[in-house]
Amino acid sequence: MKLVILDRDGTINVDSDEFIKTPEEWIPLPGALEAIAKLNHAGWHVAVASNQSGLGRGLFDVASLNAIHAKMHKMLAAVGGRIDAVFYCPHSPDEGCACRKPRPGLFEQIGERFGVDLKVSHVVGDTPRDLQAGAAVGCQPHLVLTGNAAALRGQPLPPDTYPPDTLVHQDLAAFADWLIARAPAPRPT
Ligand SMILES: [Mg+2]
Ligand SMILES: [Zn+2]
Repeated sequence: MKLVILDRDGTINVDSDEFIKTPEEWIPLPGALEAIAKLNHAGWHVAVASNQSGLGRGLFDVASLNAIHAKMHKMLAAVGGRIDAVFYCPHSPDEGCACRKPRPGLFEQIGERFGVDLKVSHVVGDTPRDLQAGAAVGCQPHLVLTGNAAALRGQPLPPDTYPPDTLVHQDLAAFADWLIARAPAPRPT
């Protein structure tokens, strides 16, 4: 099974320092939903792994998070795309859980759920911790220069911040084009 694991905020949708607390605040980045649909049509399954500490901080509740994801799924379906599953960490940073990225718990859950070899899967995100969590379980890391990483456009990556084999793309659409154009064989490990 071909699997791509995406971060949510700053990768699929516009991020906010104030957290995304309502469906109204969830706005897709230009071309991001179409990119997911394109991946799907090329045979890639897509899952989301997202830190949602706003839950643990009491900024919004699970009903609101579900409503946000319902909007995401609906808008994605309208362009012919599909996210198979959304895995999220509901904890606040001080809870010391195993699932808040950069810890790899969400990725381990996804690997178990899909019965997939994460070493031939890809992780896409806009922060170091997204890529660190995915790389810890063997995913190929990809940084998109949107959200948190938009400030890095046109610059070299800061050293020792991202996993050493990180590939860089302008945005999710550029990542999708890269993955689809690439030979379908899994990368050598
Ligand atoms: Mg992000
Ligand atoms: Zn957690």
